[in-house]
Amino acid sequence: MTVVAFIGLGQMGAPMARNLMRHGHTLRVHDLNPQPVAALVAEGAHGCDSPAQAAQGAEVVITMLPTGPQVHAALLGERGALETLDPQALVIDMSTILPTESDALCAALAARGISFMDAPVGRTSDHAIAGTLLILAGGSEAQVARATPLLRCLGDTLIAAGGPGRGIRLKLINNYMSIALNALSAEAAVLCEALGLPLDKALEVMNLTPAVRGHFGTTWPQRVLKGDLSPTFMIDLAHKDLGLALTLAGQLRVPLPMGAAARELYSQARAQGRGRQDWSAILEQMRAAAGRPSVVPEGTQ
Ligand code: NAD
Repeated sequence: MTVVAFIGLGQMGAPMARNLMRHGHTLRVHDLNPQPVAALVAEGAHGCDSPAQAAQGAEVVITMLPTGPQVHAALLGERGALETLDPQALVIDMSTILPTESDALCAALAARGISFMDAPVGRTSDHAIAGTLLILAGGSEAQVARATPLLRCLGDTLIAAGGPGRGIRLKLINNYMSIALNALSAEAAVLCEALGLPLDKALEVMNLTPAVRGHFGTTWPQRVLKGDLSPTFMIDLAHKDLGLALTLAGQLRVPLPMGAAARELYSQARAQGRGRQDWSAILEQMRAAAGRPSVVPEGTQ
């Protein structure tokens, strides 16, 4: 069983610390707010008034804090964990922070001979309570292997992200997609309501199409990811259909800011001569807009 210093006992951290305790690990807990510390102490944790105190004798330190500067303060600030940490200990940051902040922490700890890995989580506080988080473990293979018995107490899905800093990068991509899609989904739902269509009927249809199933795993593997832009559904027609939805929404006074931005991207693709390419060529259009190389071989466009 492992002695774990757990710093940050909010919506996520408190249930995570609790789950580690339930699995028999020894918890040394700290939060700026004394309330969750007291609650965990009542359940058997050792309460600590600073990260430095929490880190005393710990084999692993886990941080679950809102932002990068807070993780930095907890580890490297005054009364931070590094003041007392055993050089053999492993630090696991499970917060969602900027990858560059995570890289800087990794380097700063490495310079002091301390092992640091990123292991951010997906899903919500309900999953933190149930111990069913999705965990994206950055770090080296050895670090992931060392952390796995603890991480398995916190989540039912553990993905080795493939190296230091990759967990937090994957996490941000996943959040970018799901958060932006939330807004696009809300636009579609409001248009649906304005048209008097039941949402469950729309969902029945969209469950069968890339609208819900996404493009990464449906349309793209068939074309653009194979380097083939021959049309299954043309950019010109996709542009026309987006325009139809925008016109309809205009008649109903429903704003569609996400859809309007997407239509302009299709307009740019057409202006670049992609009108008769497959709609998955929108990925190539984005690569060009970002100044990134095309991965579609010459002559197949
Ligand atoms: P929260 O605001 O509920 O909890 C953060 C806790 O950290 C608070 O209790 C606060 O008092 C404490 N804290 C802040 N600065 C501190 C410091 N310097 N030292 C000690 N304690 C400090 O936030 P949360 O929802 O638990 O989220 C934590 C992290 O997990 C965030 O990075 C968040 O983006 C990420 N996350 C949250 C969810 C979610 O559904 N809530 C899901 C996935 C990831």
